[in-house]
Parts: sequence; C-alpha cells; structure tokens
Amino acid sequence: MSDLFWLTKTGMHELAHLHFADADASYEDARYAVFGVPYDGTTSFRPGTRFGPRAIREVSFNFESYDPATKIDFSEVPITDLGDLAVSRLPEDLVGQVADVAGDIVRDNKVPVILGGEHTATVGAVRAVRPDVYIVCDAHLDLRDELDGTPYSHGCVTRRVLEAVEDVVVIGARSGDREQFEIAAERTHLYTADTVRERGIGAVLREVREHVEGRRIYLSIDADAIDCCLTPGLGTPEPFGMTPLDIREVVRALAPYAVGFDYVEVAPFDSGQTAAVAAQMVREFIARHWVAGR
Ligand code: MN
Ligand code: MN
Repeated sequence: MSDLFWLTKTGMHELAHLHFADADASYEDARYAVFGVPYDGTTSFRPGTRFGPRAIREVSFNFESYDPATKIDFSEVPITDLGDLAVSRLPEDLVGQVADVAGDIVRDNKVPVILGGEHTATVGAVRAVRPDVYIVCDAHLDLRDELDGTPYSHGCVTRRVLEAVEDVVVIGARSGDREQFEIAAERTHLYTADTVRERGIGAVLREVREHVEGRRIYLSIDADAIDCCLTPGLGTPEPFGMTPLDIREVVRALAPYAVGFDYVEVAPFDSGQTAAVAAQMVREFIARHWVAGR
C-alpha cells in the first residue's frame, strides 16, 4: 500500500466519519476497499464536496446491516475502509495520488470504492483501473479541455477519461456547451436526462448492458445526475434530472460488470438526502457486485 497517504487505521472505529458502516475487514481479507477523497480544490460554483466522504460515512450507520433485496448482511461481506486520502492541493497531484492508491488496490485483487469529493478523483481511478468501458451518470458532460486554467478541473473529467478509455457511456446529462455536446455525440454513447425520461431507465439499461456484456467497466456516479430538487446537497445543482431510483437501477444493473466504483460530488449542506442516497448506492454497489461474484 502507499501507506504514506493514509491516516492511521488505529482508532478508526471510534471515529464514525472515518469508517463506512460494516467495513470491518482487514485489508488483507477485504474484497472491497473504500476510501475517501475529501477534495474540492477546483470547485467553480459552491464549495463543500470536501465534506462529502465524512457525511456519507456518518449516515451509513443509519442503515441496517441486512439488505433484504439481495439477502446479504454487510457484516458478512469483506469490506475495509482505508480512511481519507491526505489530499494534495493541486488537482494534477490529487489525480496521481488517487491513481497510486487505486492501482495498489486493483493489484491486490480488490475493488476500489471511492467516496467524493469532487469528480476529479475519478480521473486517477480510471487511469489505475484501465477499464474497457467507462460509464458515468452526471448532469454535466465534463468534456471541457480546460477550466479555470487546469485540465484537471471537475469540468474536464470525462475529457481526461477519453484519453485513457475509448468506450464511454454518459447517462443523465443535461448541461454543457455546444462544443461539448458535439464531442459527446461523436465520441461517447450519450443518454441525456431527457432520453432517460422518455425511454425509461429500464430500456436505456437493457441497451447499455448489451453493450458492456463480458467487458470490464468503471462506474462513476456524480451526485448531480440526480435532480437537485430531490438531492440538493450539490456544488453545481441542476434540475430536471434523474431520480434516486433511476440511479439505483443503474447501480443494480451494472455493478456486476464493474472493477471500480465511485460516488462523488456530495456537498452535504442539505438535510442529509444527498449523503443518504450516496451511502445507499455504495451499499447497493457492493451488494450487487458481491452477489454476482459468488
Ligand atoms: Mn461531474
Ligand atoms: Mn456534475
């Protein structure tokens, strides 16, 4: 492990904000390695996603260990929580840190599960995981080549990912400039929020599943894919989006194919809805992946 980056695990279990519920396995035994990236260094609108990992972990203790839909108990699933990355200030350094840690996790034959923090972290994870297909739910195309002087802004994530992964699927988008929508049409499989609403998430996912069958995917959920009227704890809120149930369908359908997962862009200054959905989606991801792999 790149242990330099980690807070010590000693005492972690007394500190709920550093520990996802039921993530009690040792690193050696774990199949899933959770870590937080409390970074919002390139925020362009409303800061606060650095507090996302803490809020997701805190609310994770609200939920029962038992998941009736899959009939698994999370206390019986080998999950570890490595704590939060001691994040660098510069986004390019942050991307390198995440790549180092996610790379170690993948080499140790585990699945990285990242709590964000702004979307920038995903670039590092994708570089480490090297999936066949990158699938992202996001209100924004994130296809800018540069934003506020950096190519590693949260607004450039999908553009950077395209440099490492040819096959990109975007679900739920409804914001971007003309150039980004042109790039999306040419180089990604784009299902806008309107498309999801018109066709239904089930029909969209049947198509996506056919597309990814037999291949390794990385699944990234930007919290603002969900309509800001439903989960308002967001740095860049957009209405007319997906629902939490849509996102749950995405996670249920695609987790079995995933070699890495993140839930990012939670800015927990609402009444807790955004972090609660995030924590449940982390659980959903682990449950569906674990059941599929058994
Ligand atoms: Mn994003
Ligand atoms: Mn977004």
